[in-house]
Parts: sequence; C-alpha cells; structure tokens
Amino acid sequence: MIGEIIKEITSELPSGTRLVAVSKFHPCEAIIEAWQAGQKLFGENRPQELEKKMKELPEELLKDVSFHFLGHLQTNKLKMVLPYVSMVQSIDTVHLLDEVNKWCLKNGKVMDVLLEMHIGAEETKQGFYEEEILDVMFNADKYRGVRICGLMGMASHTDDEEAVAADFQRIKNHFDYIKDTFPENKDFKELSIGMSEDYKIALNYGATFIRVGSKIFGPRVY
Ligand SMILES: *Cc1c(COP(=O)(O)O)cnc(C)c1O
Repeated sequence: MIGEIIKEITSELPSGTRLVAVSKFHPCEAIIEAWQAGQKLFGENRPQELEKKMKELPEELLKDVSFHFLGHLQTNKLKMVLPYVSMVQSIDTVHLLDEVNKWCLKNGKVMDVLLEMHIGAEETKQGFYEEEILDVMFNADKYRGVRICGLMGMASHTDDEEAVAADFQRIKNHFDYIKDTFPENKDFKELSIGMSEDYKIALNYGATFIRVGSKIFGPRVY
C-alpha cells in the first residue's frame, strides 16, 4: 500500500521535483516499507523521534537514504538532529541559522538548509518575511557551515484552492526575486512547497521538493 502510493505520486512528478516522504508519527516499519518500494528521501519533524529512529533503523537502510528535518528546531537540540540529516528545511530565525552554522563549523560539517518563509494565513506559523530573507541572503557568504539552498513554505490550511495557489505564488515570486538578485549564488535553487492536500497545486509553482506524509503513511499512529 505504502509502496503503491509512493509510486503513484512519483510517477506524476516532473523531473526536477523530488518527493520527501514525511514519516513523522509513523514507526520504523513504515519507513522500511517505503524504502523497499524505492523511496530514498524522508522527512521528520521532531528531534526525539528522529534520534530514536536513527538508533532503531537497519544500518543498510541508513546508508541508502537521506533524512531532512522539517520541524521547529530549538538550539539546545541541534545535536539530536544535525548528525543525522542532510538538510534542515525549517530554518525560521537568524538565531537558529547562526547556531546551526556554529555547530557545523565545530563538527566539521556543512549543512544544506532552507529558509522557512511565512506564507500561510495562520497567525502562529513561524517563518521569515520577504525582507528578512533578503537581509539573510545579503550575508549568505559569511556562513561557512551552512549552504542556503532555497526556501520552504506551508500554505494556508484551507480547502480554498485559490488561496493556497496565492500563497505558493507569493513564495515562488520571492524565490525568483532572490535568484535574480544573487545570480552568482548557485546554491539557492530549491523550493519546498506542497503537502498531502496541496502538492498538486504546488507543482504548478515550481516545487523542487514536495513533502508528503499522511497521504503515504495514513493517519498518524506513532
Ligand atoms: C507534517 C509535515 C508535512 C506533511 O504533512 P501531510 O499533510 O501529512 O502531508 C509537510 N511539511 C511539514 C513541515 C510537516 O511538518
């Protein structure tokens, strides 16, 4: 079942778009099943859960797949996350960016990161605003421990497809603006938009990553 859904989703993706299978709240068996169906990229959003899974998953799987971190990350939990992931998609403050950079310099790593942009209607949702992203990008060269690879965003949680499309249009516009403003920055090329309910819309707005959880793994059981 998990494998069939993954194949169905990936068969619809343009060549520049990758599926992040979001395995949060699902047990290791679900990750193993997805891997056996060919899935190589997973997303987790809680440090404790990620760390626990890293200890439980078979070594053979861990050598063959990558994990991205997608959730809110407190700076006192970096060591539970950064050793295990190839990308942090949810950098939402300059403080967090600075701390990830410092941790990587100390530990001899360079981490790929995305800046989370605030696009949805929900007032509590974290993320940078357009001007803040521009400010960060003016200083991108000073970070030696991170590569800023693009933007991540979550659209408004609504059935209104036009509202969702407008959110994606906004982040796509800013993504293009940053690329045009810093043409020498070759790292900045990823746009992570679209989840179970709205990834088909996100494909119309240049998603390079879609992050799909419940559509693949079902309701959360972990
Ligand atoms: C949980 C989560 C997803 C996946 O959500 P679904 O609606 O289950 O597909 C995507 N992105 C982030 C940041 C998440 O936390």
